[in-house]
Amino acid sequence: MRRLLATLVLASLTIASASPMVAAQVGQPDIVQEHWYHSYATLTLDVNEWADDYPEIVDLIVAGQTELGRNLWVLRISDWSEENKPDGTEKDVVYIDGGHHGNEHLGTELAFLTAEFYIEGWEAGDQEVIDVLTTTELHILIMLNADGNDMDTRWNINQVDLNRNYDHYWNNCPPNNPTQPGSGPFSESETLANSIYMNTVVPDADLYVTMHTGVWIMLYPWGRWPEQPSDWELFHFIRDDVNSNISEIPIRNANQGLYPNCGTSRDYGYGVMGFPTFTFETDDEQWLLGTIEALSDRLGEELDVMRYLIENVWYWRARLVVDSLVVDNGEVHVNVSNLGRSSTANATLTYVTGEGETWLPSGSDPGESPCESEETVYNYSSPGCGFGVNATNSTKVTLDFGNAPISSTEGQFFLFYQKRVIDASTWVSEPVNESMVEFDNRIEGTLSSPSVFLSIVCVFLAAFKNREEN
Ligand SMILES: [Zn+2]
Repeated sequence: MRRLLATLVLASLTIASASPMVAAQVGQPDIVQEHWYHSYATLTLDVNEWADDYPEIVDLIVAGQTELGRNLWVLRISDWSEENKPDGTEKDVVYIDGGHHGNEHLGTELAFLTAEFYIEGWEAGDQEVIDVLTTTELHILIMLNADGNDMDTRWNINQVDLNRNYDHYWNNCPPNNPTQPGSGPFSESETLANSIYMNTVVPDADLYVTMHTGVWIMLYPWGRWPEQPSDWELFHFIRDDVNSNISEIPIRNANQGLYPNCGTSRDYGYGVMGFPTFTFETDDEQWLLGTIEALSDRLGEELDVMRYLIENVWYWRARLVVDSLVVDNGEVHVNVSNLGRSSTANATLTYVTGEGETWLPSGSDPGESPCESEETVYNYSSPGCGFGVNATNSTKVTLDFGNAPISSTEGQFFLFYQKRVIDASTWVSEPVNESMVEFDNRIEGTLSSPSVFLSIVCVFLAAFKNREEN
């Protein structure tokens, strides 16, 4: 009887799906949520209810509209009472989307269940969830193709495959690989809005997972090429860790694991945004309507993998720390470790003086260095300019700072590096712990700098002159 009632409620919701105002008066009991896929209307109800009930952790925003004008809801989930982590550093950022293909409901539901896990876990006081939400921002766009979702079709309303519409080798795959990529990159409002969100709100994300169904598999870049991506060490580490400890789900390069594909959000997320990116394909059973098995049980193993990826987001980039730094006249001997699981090919030290001038290695003037000319803008790994550090490895290097006025009392060293190997990955500038900095000169290092020497002479002369006047 309860199930029949639920079915009747659902029938009314399905009819009302084009009209959220009508549907908004109908509550969605858990039994429905667990045994029926979301329509746009029921999703709209659920995300708004979360935003109303948990304002301290749920910030609901609209990233744009579908071609038919439905809202692209983004749940932003974090402990919003604090802007930063407890240690004062910036929170890590995770981006998740679902529902590119409107008939791949189980994938869309995995995005929903991920949001639900963290929201309900927060309410229950789950320590894992509290730890994640005090250190991490989760941005989850559950249903990108709401028009296609409600019509149960792969395409959007213009019959475009949204996951071929991104501006990364758009429509550039080998022939005999038919797709409907649209009239041009980002010709569709859904993909355009998604790319704008990536570029403006979450450009520094250290994880992007996009949900689909088909074959039970997780795919990392590239779809375009059979070769492994530049950050293969990171992807292989995650593959091995997940397969050893959580799930036997196959984790492969998309081109080899599935088939060559171009203009996907995964390749765009990695190749243009520099995110570590996975396509999460839940299994191939597309239809589960009215099933006895609850969705959260059905997708329990997949959710465990998501929790792992999210809980460990801190590791999904290079994390350089200085173990020792010795200043010997103009030479700087530095020992750097990488605590992250990603290598970096482009790392260097910068020195910022007390006056705020930035010096680079091999530079003869502040802000100027042969390591940063037009042609070699990313070339800090060339000799004398910087270095690379492999994942979980360490590096010893000597950099020549020439006549930079390095002082033991003011000014500061920074590690300046790319978070991953891929060209698109973002740069960070992180202060070197001052307790690691030593001066190895017999006399104070600053004395060798002519400008400081001159200023000391000036002070001496001024004092002399003062005394004369007195
Ligand atoms: Zn798909």
